[in-house]
Amino acid sequence: MPTSSPLILVINSGSSSLKFAIYPVGERQPLASGLAERLGQSDASIRIDVDGTKNKNPLTPTNHQGAVDALMAFLKERGWFERVAAVGHRVVNGGERFTESCIVTDDAMIEEIGTCPFAPLHNPAHAIGMRAAVHAFPALKQVAVFDTAFHQTMKPEAYLYALPRKYYRDLGVRRYGAHGTSHRYVSGETIRLLGLDPNDSGVVVCHLGNGSSATAVLNGKCVDTSMGLTPLEGLVMGTRTGDVDYGALAYIAKKTGLDVDGLEKMANRESGLLGLSELSNDCRTLTEAAQAGNHQAEETLDVFVFRLCRYIGALTAALPRLDAVAFTGGIGENSAYIRAKTLKRLSALGLDLDEEANATIFGGKSGIVSRSRKPVAIVVPTDEERVIAEDTARLAGLLPAKA
Ligand code: AMP
Repeated sequence: MPTSSPLILVINSGSSSLKFAIYPVGERQPLASGLAERLGQSDASIRIDVDGTKNKNPLTPTNHQGAVDALMAFLKERGWFERVAAVGHRVVNGGERFTESCIVTDDAMIEEIGTCPFAPLHNPAHAIGMRAAVHAFPALKQVAVFDTAFHQTMKPEAYLYALPRKYYRDLGVRRYGAHGTSHRYVSGETIRLLGLDPNDSGVVVCHLGNGSSATAVLNGKCVDTSMGLTPLEGLVMGTRTGDVDYGALAYIAKKTGLDVDGLEKMANRESGLLGLSELSNDCRTLTEAAQAGNHQAEETLDVFVFRLCRYIGALTAALPRLDAVAFTGGIGENSAYIRAKTLKRLSALGLDLDEEANATIFGGKSGIVSRSRKPVAIVVPTDEERVIAEDTARLAGLLPAKA
């Protein structure tokens, strides 16, 4: 790699953290990455991983601007500052307005992104990160990459809820999906690795982590996804319910006196793997407990798997043909146990687990985990930062536009 190649700074700004990575244009691996955390608190710190070492330092000021300033100082110290050519920002929700990655043109656009009502915990934090980056790099192009953009190809048949239409018309209540950047990358990699026809392929991607979602991808475009207006719908997650009968929530509210905020908190933070197991939100902890004979942990993982299989079946119905099921995310990439339980249940779709191959794939490896080839099951590690770096380089004119 020439030492003068331009660099892309990727920023994922959360309410109390700011993740970043620095990519040479066109490279798969970042030169450096890191995390500023506990922003807004007196013990805020920044960790920078570079050259195989992790350096952690306290941060002043203890806010997002402090994090971006520390990042700028690091770039200067390394002699990389002048090479930074553009900044890419992850944005959780772009609503219906942002259907693809785009250049951030002015503060009005940052304001619009920051006030998107459908991700009240995330989008305001993205706007704070964008403003800090504009302040630090006023001459550079800033690019926004939206998690929801990949799902904007869904048709009304997939994204409309059967609520009175006025709630969609007046309030924008519809399914937007989530994890779109991951689904886009993993479906593209699945097509590439398996040599599928990009214009004639049907793939179901299962992004399984603390948050989980699954998507049906037809010819590289999303046609259905499991998450909805918010990331609460669909699969069982670490602490989120996924699908639940609204009537069950209404009944609980009536019986316990929980109000709407209380229900929302319960459904988002106290449910899922944690709520059902009464042990942990962490799949690895539950797997170990299940294997040690904890019945409730095993039953919880069975619920996780059953719901996942139900969704893989439902998403297949959105495709003319199922060529591949791809697993990604912390659980999808690492848990041979969950993948095995899932694939064993999917014989109706023609999937047939390869026990030996499945047991060897974890820790960032990709590979086929089924004996069946039509459809095939494959593990593909996700890389959202790289997608953001590539989109940013493209929009900044540093890589050719995609055909
Ligand atoms: P993520 O949100 O994508 O970082 O994924 C986090 C989830 O991945 C947690 O539930 C972890 O327990 C799970 N995970 C990571 N490694 C393993 C593993 N080896 N076996 C089972 N689950 C794992």
